[in-house]
Amino acid sequence: MVNIYDVIIIGAGISGLAAAHFLNKKMPSAKVCLLEKGERVGGAIKSYKKDGFLAEWGPHGFLDNSPESMEILEDTCLYQEAQQAPLGDFHRYVCHRGKLVQIPQKPQKIFTTPLLSPWAKMRVFGDLWIRPEIRDQTLGEWAARRFGKDVLPLVDAAVTGSFSGDYNRLSINAVMPGLRKLECENGSVLRGLKKKMKAGKAAPKKRLPAMNNFPQGLERLVEVLEKGKNIRYSTGVTAVKKEDGLWRVAVDGEIFSAAHLVMALPVNNGLSLLSSLKKPPVAQIPVSRICNVVLGFTDSAVIPYGFGYLAPECEKRFTLGVMFSSHMFPNRAPEGKVLIEALVGGRRHPERLELSDEEIVARVLDDISLLMELPEKPIFSKVLRPSSGIPQLEMDHPKMLDYRAALEKEYDGLYICGFGWDGIGINDMIKSSSKAVAAISAGGRGKEGAAPVKPVYF
Ligand SMILES: Cc1cc2nc3c(=O)[nH]c(=O)nc-3n(C[C@H](O)[C@H](O)[C@H](O)COP(=O)(O)OP(=O)(O)OC[C@H]3O[C@@H](n4cnc5c(N)ncnc54)[C@H](O)[C@@H]3O)c2cc1C
Repeated sequence: MVNIYDVIIIGAGISGLAAAHFLNKKMPSAKVCLLEKGERVGGAIKSYKKDGFLAEWGPHGFLDNSPESMEILEDTCLYQEAQQAPLGDFHRYVCHRGKLVQIPQKPQKIFTTPLLSPWAKMRVFGDLWIRPEIRDQTLGEWAARRFGKDVLPLVDAAVTGSFSGDYNRLSINAVMPGLRKLECENGSVLRGLKKKMKAGKAAPKKRLPAMNNFPQGLERLVEVLEKGKNIRYSTGVTAVKKEDGLWRVAVDGEIFSAAHLVMALPVNNGLSLLSSLKKPPVAQIPVSRICNVVLGFTDSAVIPYGFGYLAPECEKRFTLGVMFSSHMFPNRAPEGKVLIEALVGGRRHPERLELSDEEIVARVLDDISLLMELPEKPIFSKVLRPSSGIPQLEMDHPKMLDYRAALEKEYDGLYICGFGWDGIGINDMIKSSSKAVAAISAGGRGKEGAAPVKPVYF
């Protein structure tokens, strides 16, 4: 069998599927093949349906503030199906001194929030006078230096909600490159943000973005992208090499060849294949694992209005946070019932995932019933243990990005994207895949775009 293609994509998660989508659009005559280790597409994106409840194993949605993701929704007509939960309408809470307190959604609300003392609020403006330090720092060190240590519980909540990570380990340069650039160029984050807002004043006022999902669950996104693609399932790649100007991709007993190779894999899976081309600075990067405790209640449960809450480590709680799923999206629970999803584990507490399902459910219930009114036992419970962990962009990450840049420079036709390289969210994945395709269609690696200033929504 002759397996020669223009482009081979390794991995059919959202990164690989998005790359295939953009390739079909930009280079319709290109012969593209996706090689997927598993029997299904979607990787971390997987929905769970039982007894009228609809939950997610992995991601619970993506914000509609990324042009590349919106392009996919429009191309596939999925925007007509998408359900939106606008950040402007739904409150988010943080557990603060044992109570749920609303997170300020707008900058001016910071002045009235009980989450920070009057002194801590004033200290935030210390950022205007503190000179940027060029060296990389942990997110915690950086935030405490610029805005004062009282903001750390909020920073913690933000990285719990995104990375389920530890702010004392995550790298500011890797996690927020755009914000760092703004700080270094303007001498202060606040000054940089003000300048940016001023420059954008003429543009129409932007609303806060909305979280997107689908009535069938997030799996709908990958189901639609799967259609019409040339995908080889149960085809795990074991080795890659460049030979006679072509990429040779080995799977069990077969070789696939192509001029262009897109590695659309989580960082650690990518490193296992790339290390034969060039030794990486670290063999593997840390990942954070969580489990999702799906709980259904009758409507006697009083769940606060909004998206959910996050609990910083200093609150010493068992549960990292809870999503109020049936508030966010309709049809997540049968009529007259409510669904919430509680997250357990994370970078700091992997040992909690060793507990049995029964024990996890019991400890979650003990914890959350002190924060919400849950007069009756759940009528439904299920512990979902996703096999994917969330890659942690810690202090070694900038070195990993240099490694990737060096590899892509040394090897023509190699494009590396996927979970944990340029971020961890679905929008980051789609953006990165789109960039790889733009480079392929331009005949090689394009100029790297400026790092975007990512807003922190949690
Ligand atoms: C618990 C959890 C919650 C999350 N929540 C959110 C959220 O709310 N919002 C958000 O935006 N993002 C969230 N994310 C992140 C989001 O899921 C990822 O950004 C995204 O799914 C990564 O897609 P990917 O295609 O890069 O990787 P993956 O989804 O991991 O897909 C990689 C694919 O490659 C395949 N593969 C691996 N090795 C090989 C090989 N050797 N050969 C061939 N195929 C191979 C795998 O089988 C898999 O199908 C969450 C992630 C997790 C784990």
